[in-house]
Amino acid sequence: MLTDTHTHLYSEAFDEDQRQMMQRAFDKGVERFFIPAIDSNYTKAMYDLEKEYPEKVFLMMGLHPTSVKENYEDELLHVEQQFERRNFYAVGEIGIDLYWDTSTLDIQKIAFRRQIQLAKEYKLPIVIHCREAFDEIFEVLESEKDESLFGIFHCFTGTLEQAKRAISYNMKLGIGGVVTFKNGKINTFLELIDLKHIVLETDSPYLSPVPYRGKRNESSYLSLVCNKLSEIYEVSEEEIAKITTKNSKDIFGV
Ligand SMILES: [Zn+2]
Repeated sequence: MLTDTHTHLYSEAFDEDQRQMMQRAFDKGVERFFIPAIDSNYTKAMYDLEKEYPEKVFLMMGLHPTSVKENYEDELLHVEQQFERRNFYAVGEIGIDLYWDTSTLDIQKIAFRRQIQLAKEYKLPIVIHCREAFDEIFEVLESEKDESLFGIFHCFTGTLEQAKRAISYNMKLGIGGVVTFKNGKINTFLELIDLKHIVLETDSPYLSPVPYRGKRNESSYLSLVCNKLSEIYEVSEEEIAKITTKNSKDIFGV
């Protein structure tokens, strides 16, 4: 059984064929789906998805760094209200993205920190989105680190040193399609990181693994990520599936 720890199954990219897409994932042994939030525009679609697949879909709630704009206070209030109303499995995805917009760095930091504190309050993991922002993310984590801080560094694409530092803050590394890219770099050192720190993800509909690179990604392609890790670690795909699913249970508590 495979666990996709990061998949945007409610995305409009799947409007046409969501049922078939889900079936393809089940056929590949992908049985558990952890769903990161983006902003209030998608909340209803997430709840609808959960209704369709209540046994397999596990929702997170949070404000994505690229959605941190002038109205971020309202968006954070929306996030907090959802937590008051019901249960989630993580605060995510949250973090800092300096690829799309550097002008919002200050408010991105504020939103990131506020949501880390929310996770601590609810004793939940955080799921971090980091793009061109390792230094800034580590600075926030350094000031927030304690035994209640834990989670996943989603779509990890840093160096070995950055991997070790992320792990030092109780983070697992979310490994997805990038590991199959020729220029993806993480495949060159990943075997030095113990499998107990690794979880699998697709980040669909983004970041498709080879041979679908550049096309729409979907959770059934998680099997390609699993296959690549079995090459890198020289253990069977069954073993990769077993360990990474166990890691996901340790993190999300389900
Ligand atoms: Zn994502």
